[in-house]
Amino acid sequence: MVCSYCQIKPAEGYLKWYCSDCSKLKRLINLHGSRVYEILDNVLLRSEDKQRNKELLEIKKEVKDQEQKLSDSDHLYDTKEKKEMLKELKDKLKKK
Ligand SMILES: [Zn+2]
Repeated sequence: MVCSYCQIKPAEGYLKWYCSDCSKLKRLINLHGSRVYEILDNVLLRSEDKQRNKELLEIKKEVKDQEQKLSDSDHLYDTKEKKEMLKELKDKLKKK
């Protein structure tokens, strides 16, 4: 029988309701009550948001830097082909 909570691991123990991981979680909830949910919220949910925000910021910064580098070197792209190449590069950066 599969664990009735996570529905992934096999159920264990006498009653065969929960797997070993979910049994442990249940014991922690019984012991610490709502603190368990607060900790999960703070650690898992919020830090994930923060991580994503940080990643987005890093990507934006990188794109800006690259765009700046490209516009600094605009004068080097003096032929038609080179200008097209520059436009392509800028378009690629925008897609990121
Ligand atoms: Zn489980």
